[in-house]
Order: sequence, then structure tokens, then C-alpha cells
Amino acid sequence: MSEKEKSLGKTLEEKLTSKRRNGLLKLTPEEIAEADGFCEGYMRFLDDSKTEREAVISAIALAEANGFTPYDPKANYSAGDKVYYSNRGKSVIFCVFGTQPLENGTRILAAHIDSPRLDLKQHPIYESNDLCLLKTHYYGGIRKYQWVTIPLALHGVICKSDGTTVTVNIGEDENDPVFMITDLLPHLAQEQVKRTLGEGIKGEELNVLIGSRPFNDDDVSEKVKLNVMRILNEKYGIIEDDFISAELEVVPAFKARNVGIDGGLIGAYGQDDRVCAYPALEAILDCDNPEYTAIVVLTDKEEIGSTGNTGLKSQYLKNFISSIADMADVPDYRVIRNSKCLSADVSAAFDPTFPEVAEPKNFSYCNQGLAMCKYTGSRGKSGCNDANAEFVGFVRNLFDQNGVIWQTAELGRVDLGGGGTVACYVAELDMDVVDVGVPVLAMHAPYELTAKLDVFMAYKGFSAFIK
Ligand code: MN
Ligand code: MN
Repeated sequence: MSEKEKSLGKTLEEKLTSKRRNGLLKLTPEEIAEADGFCEGYMRFLDDSKTEREAVISAIALAEANGFTPYDPKANYSAGDKVYYSNRGKSVIFCVFGTQPLENGTRILAAHIDSPRLDLKQHPIYESNDLCLLKTHYYGGIRKYQWVTIPLALHGVICKSDGTTVTVNIGEDENDPVFMITDLLPHLAQEQVKRTLGEGIKGEELNVLIGSRPFNDDDVSEKVKLNVMRILNEKYGIIEDDFISAELEVVPAFKARNVGIDGGLIGAYGQDDRVCAYPALEAILDCDNPEYTAIVVLTDKEEIGSTGNTGLKSQYLKNFISSIADMADVPDYRVIRNSKCLSADVSAAFDPTFPEVAEPKNFSYCNQGLAMCKYTGSRGKSGCNDANAEFVGFVRNLFDQNGVIWQTAELGRVDLGGGGTVACYVAELDMDVVDVGVPVLAMHAPYELTAKLDVFMAYKGFSAFIK
């Protein structure tokens, strides 16, 4: 219908009322191909970066290839200089100095690179009835029943008694063995099926099968365990007590794959929150001469409350800003007060199979773009940031002016549950911050889904914010 044929009501409706629309209907085939191409790099990053330590290594490698150098607190940096600072190898800050004086503030993107998983206990290894297993303690909000009968890989570091550290990565190479947690056969599950879903698999039942062949010596009591230790000792030079000073993470051994006959979705482990971390990283790698000093922080420990010295409750981000403020000879509180931050973290995508958890007007949807979440929290927004309307308005206009397809998000129906992000810890520094991220289906599951359009819109939105 041409413009002049529109009724007054139709014209007013278009002008005054808000409508949701699939983002793919707003893009040209060339733009969709660009989004798909961006996601190829993202999927490689996912396969290389299943733990926070691996994500730091991958991110620094990409940054060094793009001219970033290690931050030197004694150096004098000027506009366009690109630096990075690794916090204990588990979180990392990237910074490109801007043309504006530092006291006018910075632009910060904060995403997390830890994901829900199973950590090995400090005395993990034991033998039972000729099988060798590993005890785990889960990390973050997992649904325990989802972690049985899937191929698992073992990643991490072991600090040995001689002071050296070995890196472990078993189960990712096609020729590697994988590991598994067993479950009951249905024939013998009559008692187990009466458990609630939350108790279907209990924490102490998440035992990872690691070996089945004995060391053939009648003088030895636990022959299978000894054989596993012999193999680990040959491979890594470790003894059983070295598990005490290790961080070993059991993660799904799946690779990132295209999902759906049209290939529009990405299936992978750990997309919460690497689906925001990677676009934020790419945004700063492409950020050559920003107006305001641009900072990307990829942080650890978000999934357990941002605790520890590598989580954003620690002072490490503030200390970095203080350090660059010292260089510019301005008080750090003025830099911080004038800074703006996007807390880049995922939202829950609407799931047609479970519509009852959503309030559909305010939920986020796959393929409707980057999702802005003004507040999280639970029971009356408790514990959340709840961004100021002025800052939400600033971000909204920025996205609109830069062709970013975006939507709003709220985590489910009121009083159904809730959650949090790093936003409240950034806000505590005295900075404007709002949550913005990619919608995820089956969040925190061993295999999570995102839409390629939304991943690319994260990159576009983050780029517009820091450029
Ligand atoms: Mn997250
Ligand atoms: Mn999470």
C-alpha cells in the first residue's frame, strides 16, 4: 500500500505504537552474510576458549596480532595506544587510549569469561569396583541432570610441588579420549524417577569416569587408580597430591556447530558469556582512534557472584583506571565518575516450549537483536543495578543512530526467579552502567543456543559505544 492510501489510524499507529519485528527482515542478504561471517570467528573462539584461562590466552593472542602490548604502569601513553593487562591469567583488561582528556571519562565494556561447569575436588581420584572416578564440585548454576551421559573434557592447570605448572587439555582433539558421568538405565530407575527434577542427579553423584584398566600387579590394592595415576604421571609428571594445587574444570567436549536447517543458530558450550566477551573483544580490536579511552574487561567468577580477586567485586578494574589516571595526573574518582559502562551479559531468550515463564511483552527473543536489560534482580528488583532512565536513553539513541537492531529484556515473569550480573559492582564504583547482551536459549545448559544476527548486533552495538 502506498503512503497516501494509509488511513489516519494506520498512520498514527505506525507513528505512536511500538512493534517487535524479526531482525532478519530488516537486513539485506549482504548484511546477513556479514553477520554469518562474523560468527565463524566467534565459533573458533568458543572451541579454543572453554575456560576463563583459555579465553584470556585466546583474547590476548588476538589482541597482540592487532597491535596491543602489555600494559606498563610506568609508561606514558597517548591517543591511539593499545594495551592489555592480564589479572592472574583469569581475567583481562584491554584499553585503547582516546583523544579526549582522561578526566572526561572512559567507555567500558564488561563481559565475563567463566561459565558453569564441574570443578575437580582437591582429593578427586578414587577407585570403586574396578572403575576409577573423579569427585567434582559444580561451579555456578547448573541443572545437574543435564551433565550426565554426555562427552566431557578436562581443562585446567596443575601447580606441582617443584613449583612448575602444567596445562591440561584432554578431550578436545579428535584423537583424545573423553570422559563421562553415568546415569541409571530406565529398567532400574523406578526409585530414581520419583526424585524431583532438581534432585534427579545429586551433587555427589556427579562423578566423572576416568579409567577402567588395571595395573597388573597383585601387590597393589587399587590397580585401576594406580594405572590412571601412571598415565597422568607420564603425561604431566604429576602425583596424586598435586591435585590439591590444581584448577581442573570438567566441561562438555562438544564443538560449536550451526544449528537448524537454515544454519541461523549457534550451538555451543559456554556462550554465557563468551557470546558477549567475543564481540566486545572484536569491538576493541577494531577501535583505532576512539574519542574516549575505550576499555574492555573480560572478567572471571561472575557465575559465583563476582567474588575472588579475578571477579569484578575485586578492585582490579578500579586499580587499572587509577593507574592510567595517575599517568594523566587526574584524580581517579573523576575519571570513574565520568565513565560509562555496558555490562555485556546474556539474557534469556523466549522458548516456545516453555512460554509460561515469560512475560511476553518484556522478554527477549532470538533474532530481534541485542537485548538491553534495565534491571535484573529478584523479589522487587532486589540486588540489581536498575539503570537510570537518562543513561538508558543515551544508549537507546546511540544504538538507533548506528543501525543496531536491539530489543529490551527482562528475566522472566515477576517473582518467578531472577539473577544478576556484574552491573551492580560497576555501579558501586560511581559509574553509569546498564546490562546489554545476547539472548540465549537453554542458558547454563552444556549446549546453549544463540542466533547469529544477535551475536553480530552485539558487535555493532559495542563498537558504536566505544568508537
Ligand atoms: Mn552471564
Ligand atoms: Mn550465567
